Amino acid sequence: MDFDLFVIGGGSAGVRCARISAGHGARVGIAEERFWGGTCVNIGCVPKKLLVQAGEYGGWAEDAAGFGWTIQKGPHDWSKLIAAKDREITRLEGIYRKLLAGAGATVFDGRAVFIDPHTVQVGDRRITAKTIVIATGGLPERPPIPGAELGIVSDDAFYLKTMPRRIAIVGSGYIAVEFAGIFRALGAEVHLIYRQPLPLRGFDHDLREAEVEALRAQGIVLHPGNLPRKVEAAGDRRILTFGGAQGGDAQTIEADLVFFATGRRANTAGLGLERIGVELNAKCAVRVDENLRTTQPHVYAMGDVTDRVNLTPVATAEGHALADTLFGGNPRMVSLWNVPSAVFTSPPIATVGLSEEQASVLGAVDIYLTQFTPMRHNLSGRKRKSMMKLVVDKDSQKVVGVHMLGEDAPEIVQGLAIAVVMGATKADFDRTIGIHPTAAEEFVTLRTRTRTTDLAKAAE
Ligand code: NDP
Repeated sequence: MDFDLFVIGGGSAGVRCARISAGHGARVGIAEERFWGGTCVNIGCVPKKLLVQAGEYGGWAEDAAGFGWTIQKGPHDWSKLIAAKDREITRLEGIYRKLLAGAGATVFDGRAVFIDPHTVQVGDRRITAKTIVIATGGLPERPPIPGAELGIVSDDAFYLKTMPRRIAIVGSGYIAVEFAGIFRALGAEVHLIYRQPLPLRGFDHDLREAEVEALRAQGIVLHPGNLPRKVEAAGDRRILTFGGAQGGDAQTIEADLVFFATGRRANTAGLGLERIGVELNAKCAVRVDENLRTTQPHVYAMGDVTDRVNLTPVATAEGHALADTLFGGNPRMVSLWNVPSAVFTSPPIATVGLSEEQASVLGAVDIYLTQFTPMRHNLSGRKRKSMMKLVVDKDSQKVVGVHMLGEDAPEIVQGLAIAVVMGATKADFDRTIGIHPTAAEEFVTLRTRTRTTDLAKAAE
């Protein structure tokens, strides 16, 4: 065998797995066909956050007036922002590649395809390995409607030559609401078309309602309960036709861009998986057991290609754990419970643990909820609210869910996630002294229970 381990895919999961395995002394090869660092570094989390930050400066310039500053907000230069973002992404991509080489992994620039269970082809080379890891990530998916190819997806959004003045975004998941906030903050008229009554399906109900308020306060036009029907071109412009999810009259929006943020699918097509007996699930993602093993015992898969919890930190944790398990003499698994996550809207959302709806079907929960105007905005005059919520198991008094919409929510909830993972109780939160004056201190001063919810009992 040429290698002990061959990794297909140089994204968050693959790079970490290759790097740590090589550090443990394994002979490692890794192939990437597009860009090192994968979606997160190149067309996902990292450039997205830079664009979010670009939008924030505009807001701060406006808010400063309430604090005595006279700031003339000039026009935003999109191409300057994209050029700066591109420089940073190129720098990071280089670092990823260097880290691999530095760890002693052999790097292949090209697409790897299975020839047989222990052999992959990359370009004109055939490479054999004892263990193979599939870490090929996911791809954005357009809905099956006429003219869908006339719309862009998130991959394209990072390379637009000009800033759209009017944009119709379809979907209300992470990507849809984040980009709605980005384009709105940079001055575009933004329409969000989605099929649910509330955005962010799967998140806590109060958080979703607070998000509606936040999107409206930003001036984003919401079209809930609607499905896209077709896209047509009118010169450079695009016309999106959409209508009620249950039928009914159609509406149209003419915009510079139609943006489909309608989910992602696992990147499994054309890898030759059918040839080697690696089974896929109904959504064409690679089926794995709790040890990340596929239906072919020496082939593993991790990250978005397995479509379980599609977040970069989960992918990197899985890559590290598998490397330690296979080559580090430290077998371990990554728990997919209490995975914190954030949505970088304006203001952002962050959450860890169970929503009220999820927790209350398991047993009664005490809910502590507060909404307030952040101190800063009493002076800035910006209409912006924060919402914080604790979901507490009534019997054990363990905090099983923390949810926040508000400035710095991701920074605050990351710390609280440690407490939730450790099993902290409401009393542990209560005996923690706050840091004053902060928004975060609200989480340790929530004294009055808002309600108790018991969907399990209600269902009896
Ligand atoms: P999501 O799965 O989060 O959301 C997809 C959205 O598209 C939903 O609103 C869904 O509606 C809607 N949708 C799906 N199919 C159709 C259709 N045929 N017609 C109309 N609407 C449709 O996907 P995203 O693309 O937003 O993001 C993909 C994943 O990437 C996320 O799940 C997340 O794991 C990850 N991500 C994480 C980020 C972060 O951590 N901050 C940022 C960006 C992405 P419905 O709700 O009804 O199904």
